[in-house]
Amino acid sequence: MVNRKSSNRKLIVAIDGYSSCGKSTIAKALAKYANATYVDTGAMYRAIALYALRNRLETDEAVVHSLDRIQVGFVRVDGAQHVTLNGEDVEGQIRTLEVGNAASRISAIREVRAFLVAQQRAMGEQGSIVMDGRDIGTVVFPNADLKLFLTARPEIRAQRRFDELVAKGESPVYEDVLADVNDRDYRDTHRAESPLRQAEDAIVVDNSELTPEGQMELIIRLYEKTLNTKH
Ligand code: C5P
Repeated sequence: MVNRKSSNRKLIVAIDGYSSCGKSTIAKALAKYANATYVDTGAMYRAIALYALRNRLETDEAVVHSLDRIQVGFVRVDGAQHVTLNGEDVEGQIRTLEVGNAASRISAIREVRAFLVAQQRAMGEQGSIVMDGRDIGTVVFPNADLKLFLTARPEIRAQRRFDELVAKGESPVYEDVLADVNDRDYRDTHRAESPLRQAEDAIVVDNSELTPEGQMELIIRLYEKTLNTKH
């Protein structure tokens, strides 16, 4: 893919949507195209979840009390972005179903969200950014230049997640993965704090029937249109 010519215009792209609908793949590719920084906010929630699991923090209060001992950051490793927890590269440990479920649980805690949202906004001060998550267009950057809301049918998302887990050497059961996708959708859309919802000005992209290339073309078109209309 050709990178767009370097631009000194600062642009914020917010990509929200359900779990396992390919947000991070598309966000990474768009960030590369746009010479922008990519931020995977799910990884930040997962890093805190990993801390909670490792330290057996079973109540919300225990998680909140630990926040001042938790530092979440990013490092670049061989051109890829890895999340760090108190300086340790934990990228290899956060992409499991267990950590995903714990992340979904701790992400409902108001103080955890405030802690991470502040960091996410600070990242947006630095320059152009493509950030993916659940509340980017609604809470983190309500004034984002371009807001995309990605979705796909639950069965398709479950199959993609299943394939990823198999590729990682895990032995998932498809029905469990589908149940997990549905549970997580429910929790993400029904929690009191920043529930997942489409921002009014977001563009919905249902990629159930789109090839990765078709989706990328569409998103680049939307990005270029934004760049031309905003400046
Ligand atoms: O996107 P990912 O599956 O890695 O996110 C893990 C969990 O973190 C999600 O299920 C969601 O509950 C939570 N999350 C969130 N807000 C974000 C990003 C992720 O609540 N901005």
